[in-house]
Amino acid sequence: MKQKIVFLKEEEIPRQWYNIAADMPTPLQPPLHPGTGKPTVPDDWAPIFPMNIVEQEFSTERWIDIPEEVLEKLLIWRPTPLVRAYALEKELGTPAKIYYKNESVSPAGSHKPNTALAQVYYNKEAGIERMTTETGAGQWGSALSFACSLFKMPLKVYMVRISFDQKPYRKILMNTWGAECVPSPSADTNFGRQVLEETPDTPGSLGIAISEAIEDAVSAKVNTKYSLGSVLNHVMLHQTIIGLETLKQLEIFGDYPDVVIGCVGGGSNFAGLTFPFIRDKIYGKEVRVVGVEPTACPTLTKGPFLYDFGDTAATTPLLTMHTLGHTFVPPPLHAGGLRYHGCAPLVSQLVMDKLIEPLSINQVDCYNAGVQFARTEGIVPAPETNHAVAAAVAEARKAKEEGVEKTIVFNLSGHGLLDLSGYEKHLNGELEEYSLPDEEIQKALTVLEPYPKPKV
Ligand SMILES: *Cc1c(COP(=O)(O)O)cnc(C)c1O
Repeated sequence: MKQKIVFLKEEEIPRQWYNIAADMPTPLQPPLHPGTGKPTVPDDWAPIFPMNIVEQEFSTERWIDIPEEVLEKLLIWRPTPLVRAYALEKELGTPAKIYYKNESVSPAGSHKPNTALAQVYYNKEAGIERMTTETGAGQWGSALSFACSLFKMPLKVYMVRISFDQKPYRKILMNTWGAECVPSPSADTNFGRQVLEETPDTPGSLGIAISEAIEDAVSAKVNTKYSLGSVLNHVMLHQTIIGLETLKQLEIFGDYPDVVIGCVGGGSNFAGLTFPFIRDKIYGKEVRVVGVEPTACPTLTKGPFLYDFGDTAATTPLLTMHTLGHTFVPPPLHAGGLRYHGCAPLVSQLVMDKLIEPLSINQVDCYNAGVQFARTEGIVPAPETNHAVAAAVAEARKAKEEGVEKTIVFNLSGHGLLDLSGYEKHLNGELEEYSLPDEEIQKALTVLEPYPKPKV
């Protein structure tokens, strides 16, 4: 029998995270204070995050120990399997070898608990008594609810109202793990009440939900902090366990990739899989690293590299990133996820340095690949994940046309069992191949004109 899966043993789980800030050819430009325009210092971040997490955000230490209590809880589902997709290869008739790292086996169904557990641990260590966050589709809210339940940390999740109404199962999942979940805008914050008064029928937005979660954290009577599930350096760091495991597993398969692929929203699952490979690349190894996004939200492929806010409400420090402008929202006809206006500063800088190749794929091709994957390998990927699947399939087809063998590794960032409505639309032929027009991009970017520009 040919080897299909490599499971690592418990004791083979990586003991340290990899911090790519130690190896980047161009260091990150400093985040700027939104009020003064000056580079931020750790204290500027202290009202929102505990100091131990802020220290990680600023760290350039190459290897950072994973605390024992975090490792112990990661072992609930880690190490995750690395799987050879023989059936998909056969269906495609490709000489390429396709491997996927299966992050969908976590209790919340995605890679997000990798950072959620670490963040809740550090908050607990810092004496924080309660946490808040926002969630759009509900994946981050459920991952953080899961982590908070294991550490007995009270959590309040502000969920964008339209998702709250359309995705009741995510809320039930959060409640089952003991978190409170309210639709945003809510009557529980000043900002929420103000929005409700002006626009009682608003569907809500991620920007409103972030503002509510931050207002709650800074004004609550009990010692409360806020938590973010992507974009920031410490989140990328916590996700590198994915790629570090994958390197060990490929060694057992006796293989090394020609191309490593991940889907990119804020950048965390992509960074998690690829940063350890980018380290190899920096030190001379030949490997291509491809980040995939929707043509409806083409941040890396079409967005310029600028200073922008992490959130729609323009409250976070200004970060250097590829961006479409913080007020950009993709049109509602886009059903494939990955709707974030910007991208992690670490990922953005590595794109600038040509260590990452960005690629955009339209939603119809993404869902076609997801359905093909489901019908061969059995797992129904999350809509976001379909972008990585589609890029892997395209690489495998190219290998067939060119008659060359190659090794493809992609991240199966999550399953789609709680996000089936996009599949329904796709199967009914209701999705369009939509690309964001250049005029729309130019219009969206005007919001950034008054802000400082990064050095290039
Ligand atoms: C949240 C999510 C993403 C996008 O976020 P990143 O930070 O870019 O990884 C991708 N896939 C799944 C399954 C997700 O839940």
